[in-house]
Amino acid sequence: MNVTELVAHFEQAFGRQPAFVARAPGRVNLIGEHTDYNDGFVLPMAIDRDVTIVGAPRDDRVVRLRSANFGDEAGFALERIEKAHDGAWSNYARGVAHVLQQAGFALRGFDGVIYGEVPIGSGLSSSAAIEMATLMAFTAAGADGSAPLALAGAQAARLAQRAENEFVGVNCGIMDQFISSLGKAGHALFIDCRSLAYELTPMPRGVTVLVVDTSAPRSLAASAYNERRAQCEQAARTLGAPALRDVSVETFEQRRSELPDLIARRAAHVIYENQRVLDAVAALRANDVAMFGRLMNQSHDSLRDWYEVSSKELDAVVEIARGVPGVYGARMTGAGFGGCAIALVDDAQAGALAQAIACDYPRRTGREPKVYACVASDGASWSTL
Ligand code: ADP
Ligand code: MG
Repeated sequence: MNVTELVAHFEQAFGRQPAFVARAPGRVNLIGEHTDYNDGFVLPMAIDRDVTIVGAPRDDRVVRLRSANFGDEAGFALERIEKAHDGAWSNYARGVAHVLQQAGFALRGFDGVIYGEVPIGSGLSSSAAIEMATLMAFTAAGADGSAPLALAGAQAARLAQRAENEFVGVNCGIMDQFISSLGKAGHALFIDCRSLAYELTPMPRGVTVLVVDTSAPRSLAASAYNERRAQCEQAARTLGAPALRDVSVETFEQRRSELPDLIARRAAHVIYENQRVLDAVAALRANDVAMFGRLMNQSHDSLRDWYEVSSKELDAVVEIARGVPGVYGARMTGAGFGGCAIALVDDAQAGALAQAIACDYPRRTGREPKVYACVASDGASWSTL
């Protein structure tokens, strides 16, 4: 649904004209997996798929949101924000309103139609997109009829993360909201997950990031995630470091025999992966796409062999992709055990790659993939209509 259609939807639902459109993108992480909770580095880009809210301020302190995806409506009063039932989509909007007010922002109510093109639950972070889009809508609606809120960038991202952590109850890191807020067309965003320092880095021209959703369930993901976190903490403790971020490749190689074999393999992934992110940023600066692709490949192999969070579906996508001419590299992305894999491919070969996946992946796995060709896009924004 485009903005014109959403405007029509709003007029039909609320019997008046909308005043603003707010939007925020999903994201994909190019490299730097399982590094965030080790205080390390990540390199995501915002994708050209948004959650969009078309809205108009209200004269009272009520928020009414109609979902164009699900066809239902949610409403809540800003005076008393309560959580809806577990899993309700409105909890993301309620959570954002809650943390904004806690942070001292005087919010105004609004009516809105909300529509998302970020696939839900695929690992492209539709949750960060809905949080940042709602936050932008509150910004646009303004404070009690006065000027729009002064709220953007890293501060906005941290508030959105708090909404997901504290209100929705999902213990996510900062990457998703950060890139959804701060992304820029044609750029990836290098983030230091400890200091939250960040830097936009131009993406190479002429290449497409093809995202493949494996359509495989992520049933093992939660327990494995907690186990990996504990193993990383154990490794850091043994090496006397605050986090694995503080262990260089050289130090690790000198001291790895102090770690039990399994713990050493987990640590090896994280420590080398952090270095790969730094190398990947250098490769982007040097416009060295081939190097960037090799680092993606190494990242996947490490996640598969050392960190052991890949799956036969993710491996199948990666193997198929690597066999297609014009592909620089391919890897799983996200926590693993399902979700998405990505490939970096020459624009001219993106169609052939999509074709190869559509043909070979079901044959190898018995599942139907979903394929999204993505370009690096702008972070959250709003404008008047
Ligand atoms: P993801 O990997 O996509 O972030 P999550 O489980 O973290 O998966 O978040 C998905 C949830 O976010 C959905 O179940 C829904 O509650 C909310 N959500 C995402 N997109 C939309 C949308 N377009 N409209 C309403 N809610 C949405
Ligand atoms: Mg999410």
